[in-house]
Amino acid sequence: MHTAIVWFRNDLRLADNAAVDAACRAAERIVPVWIDDPAAEGDWPAGAASRAWLARSLAALDERLRSVGSRLLLRRGDTLQVLRNLAAESGAAGIHCNRRVEPAWIATDARVEAGLDVPLHRHHGNLLAAPETVSTGQGTPYRVFTPFWRRLSAELEMLAEPLPAPTRIASPELDSLPLDALGLTPAPRWDLPFWQHWTPGELGAQALLERFVLTSAARYEALRDRPDRHGTSRLSPHLHFGEISPRQIARALLDAMLDGFCADPGPFLRELGWREFGQHLLFHFPESTRHDLSPRFAGFRWRDPESGLLDAWRRGLTGVPIVDAGMRELWQTGWMHNRVRMIVASFLTKHLRIHWLHGARWFWDTLVDADLGNNSLGWQWSAGTGVDAAPYFRIFNPVTQGRRFDPLGRYVTRWLPALASLPAEVVHAPWTIESSSPPAGYPARPIVDLEQARRDALAAWQASVAGGPGPSAR
Ligand code: FAD
Repeated sequence: MHTAIVWFRNDLRLADNAAVDAACRAAERIVPVWIDDPAAEGDWPAGAASRAWLARSLAALDERLRSVGSRLLLRRGDTLQVLRNLAAESGAAGIHCNRRVEPAWIATDARVEAGLDVPLHRHHGNLLAAPETVSTGQGTPYRVFTPFWRRLSAELEMLAEPLPAPTRIASPELDSLPLDALGLTPAPRWDLPFWQHWTPGELGAQALLERFVLTSAARYEALRDRPDRHGTSRLSPHLHFGEISPRQIARALLDAMLDGFCADPGPFLRELGWREFGQHLLFHFPESTRHDLSPRFAGFRWRDPESGLLDAWRRGLTGVPIVDAGMRELWQTGWMHNRVRMIVASFLTKHLRIHWLHGARWFWDTLVDADLGNNSLGWQWSAGTGVDAAPYFRIFNPVTQGRRFDPLGRYVTRWLPALASLPAEVVHAPWTIESSSPPAGYPARPIVDLEQARRDALAAWQASVAGGPGPSAR
């Protein structure tokens, strides 16, 4: 009887899982395993919020496997050694996994492949297109999103049907660690409030997709920039952990169009395209996780992160309501709306002139959807240091942004109840109220003068980036 191992990583689902599908075709017995080996993730081991999500996602995958007659094995240790032992214990003839594009995982896969006595089959399962298959006419990687998306979206017309989940999986009895032994769940349990907002796991992801298609997809373009409304899918953590595939999502949106629920899925599919672009950049420019992609910032005068400003930003105490509301939404739910991510990132890198890597590291630890491709792309885009980025000199005015995208102040007052009694006209700039008593429990003024900070950022940019290299204070 043939046995195959399925090595789960960021593909914690049974449906549309190329590795699961291939293993089930190749063998009668399957050994599903997840390995706890932070060293395999290099410089970016999963942050605290991601680990809390992972605990629930692994439990959900185990339940899914049990419902078809199997179970998830949990093992810990050096990945290569664990896989070698498991292959020997189970008599497996091969190991199946879905490809990852993070630099550390590419290195891990190469080491594992070279050290195994059985073949490692790496499948293409977590992206619409493998990163090396999308290239310019000259055969080089794309550096600009629009032509990348033009090229990739043409392929969506031929999108294959997602693979069905297996209905029965036979597995040998093998030892597994209990989930608690992995120490993923935090103590004390600061994560408990998260779970009012999220249901990790494949079934939670499918239910969320269905709800989005039925209730919000048709209004996506109109509402996607409004943090005060439920306008986006909130599928990002499910996508990051592979509890749902981009193909399942794209297929559902295209079907919704055919069924008359959503006249134009284009704007939503384009966002899935940004995710693909993030993975494309990560694959082709792995240095983008820690270095400015634009060489023009080599001499930029970034501010010392120890100034106390970074800490105020992290804790949502800058005195700028839309920034603080975003940082508190992040702290309390593990997620932040995309428009607000752009605002808080612009504020950190421009008004506070703190290098984006400090913000990226904080997001990495606190986001449940922390994703190396999307996070590096989002930060480099916002800071103006990326390949296809908002220019540094385009500085968001956080008050104007707040008034435009949260016109009644509902978003900021949800996360900053201290401001709830203020009229909508001033809620995004409470320091302008003509009264001697500012709202209790909230900073009386922004930590920097917004106009002066904007001028300072432009001067720093002019001195180094626009006008040539200057001294680096980083
Ligand atoms: P929807 O609008 O419903 O979009 C559907 C899916 O498309 C998302 O789930 C996501 O996978 C993808 N997507 C949407 N917008 C973007 C985008 N701008 N870039 C790349 N992919 C996108 N996203 C992450 O998944 N992980 C991160 O660590 C991350 N860090 C970010 C940091 C900064 C500074 C910025 C500006 C953006 C970051 N993003 C990140 C992108 C984006 O903010 C989130 O993907 C989005 O807010 C998720 O919400 P949603 O699922 O409701 O998105």
